[in-house]
This record gives sequence, C-alpha cells and structure tokens, in this order.
Amino acid sequence: MYQKLLLLTGIVTLLYQQAFCWGFYAHKEINHHAVFLLPPAMMIFYKPHIDFITEHAVDPDKRRYMIAAEGPRHFIDLNRYDDHPFDALPRTWQKAVEKYGEDTLMAHGIVPWWIHNMQERLTKAFIEKNYPAILKLSAEIGHYIADAHVPLHAHSNYNGQQTGQHGIHGFWESRIPELLAATTFDYIIGKAQYLAHPHQFMWQTVLESAAAADTVLSVEKMLTRQFPSDQKYAFEERNGTLIRQYSSAFTIAYNRHLQGMVERRMRQSIFAVASSWYTAWINAGQPVLQPPANILFSETDRKNFEELDLVWKTAESKGRTCGN
Ligand SMILES: [Zn+2]
Repeated sequence: MYQKLLLLTGIVTLLYQQAFCWGFYAHKEINHHAVFLLPPAMMIFYKPHIDFITEHAVDPDKRRYMIAAEGPRHFIDLNRYDDHPFDALPRTWQKAVEKYGEDTLMAHGIVPWWIHNMQERLTKAFIEKNYPAILKLSAEIGHYIADAHVPLHAHSNYNGQQTGQHGIHGFWESRIPELLAATTFDYIIGKAQYLAHPHQFMWQTVLESAAAADTVLSVEKMLTRQFPSDQKYAFEERNGTLIRQYSSAFTIAYNRHLQGMVERRMRQSIFAVASSWYTAWINAGQPVLQPPANILFSETDRKNFEELDLVWKTAESKGRTCGN
C-alpha cells in the first residue's frame, strides 16, 4: 500500500516537473525583495501593499490555465531563429511580425515584446494615478521580467526533452531556490536604476538567458554521469508531502557546479523588476503617490482574482501545476 502511494506521488511529481515557470516560491521572493530597492517616494505606496505585490506575482502563471494566449508571454525560444546574438530577429514587434508572421512568433514565445507592452501600460497607470492598475501591473510585469531571466525560458529544449533530461526546468528554477535561497542566497542588492532603454535592457536579458542555457543542460548531464544513479532522486518532503524529487545532495552539487548562477539570476531579476517599476514612474513624470487608505479593486478585478484562484486550484488538484 505504502509503495503504491509512493508510486502515485512519484507520478504527481513528474507531472509537476512538466510545468514551466520559476516556482511560485521564487516569483514571490523576487517581487517581494524588489520593493526594497525603490526610492522613498515610491516605497510609500509599494510597502503597504507588499503582500499584494508578492501574492499576485504568480497570477500570470495561473492565467495559463484559463487563456491559451497566455503561454507564449512567458518565454522565447531564441535558438529557433538563428545563432547568438540572433541578429536576424528584429527587436521591434512590428518588424518581427513583418518578417516571421505572428503565428511563428507566438509559437516560439514573445516574452521581451510582452514586457515592453506591460511597461507602457504601467507607465500609463502611473500617469493616471490608477492605483489598482499600478499594483496589478507591477505584480505581473515582475513575473514576466523574472521569467526572462531563466535560461530555459530562452531555449527550445526548455525541459531537457530533446536530451533525456526531463524535469531540469523545475529543477533549476524551483528545486534549487526552494532548497537553498532562504539559507544561502544574498538579497542585498542596492537601489533600482533608471533604464534609459528598457526594451533593449530586456532583450539583453533574454540574450544572457539563452547564452546560459547550454551550461544549465551540460552541467546537469556531466553531474548525472558522475553521481551515483540511485542518489540522484530521493523521496523527500515538500510542503509537508513526501514526494520523489532531485535529492538534496544532487541539488546542492548541481548548484555548486553552476557557480551561483541561480542566485545571480534571481538577484538580477529583483534588480530588473524594481528598475522597471522605477523607470515607469520616472517616465510618467514622478507623480506624487497619495493613494486612499484602501485600494478598491473593481468588481471585474475581484471576479478575475477569484477565477484565477479557482482555475489554479482545479489544475493543482489534478497535479498539473508548478507552484505550491
Ligand atoms: Zn511564468
């Protein structure tokens, strides 16, 4: 009976590993820590709403279970186009559509263009002092910017499916932060900076991610060859449940061989998220933020939050999710 249970949990774990996003844990951490990089004039608004910014960091992933168009916003398979630095791929949406057509772009992912779209919407929300929109858009752009920092969000072999390394996606972006971030990652980062060219900055970010993808894959392969095969995976506890996952020993060894890459990309995500918020605020003319004591979300917003939760919980009960 116990063995059957373990087998079942193993299946759930494998399914879990097939979903693709920084784990919920890392997304929330990134948005949370980004708040502390803001100048006082922004902090006065963001800090009292840090719980919202943190919790809603994962809304875009929840939405993937509701809207088909949501998926491509989280990645870009750059290697589908040409070789690094992918000069053949136009950086502006219009020119890219003219060259490749919208279907191709959607099939290979659109994260840098989507961030650009969100950046403009956030700037507009600041201009209008639309406080609910500022909160929602800040939380969500934080998600997409963080995704753009993940190497396997910029490569078509996103879960090692082309090289027999199934599960590596969740391993890099969920297992490592969940095991090591709280005790070993350094979140002292400095201050948000104004991004003179945010669109270029985000392109640079996905280019760095794509460049790191080979290392993410090859180091895991090398370590798997060296590691005792019966010690790569283990039944260990995750959020109070016993599941089969990459063992702690393998996770620690992999993280060491990556020489701090996961921590570095998390720190860069935090910096980029805060800088994107800050840039939107500056470009909006540095409006004085004097929100009412209670931010009132519209009826549509509240319904939407409920629907996202519901669809998420349904997916989770079927073991099709990547968060916790
Ligand atoms: Zn995502």
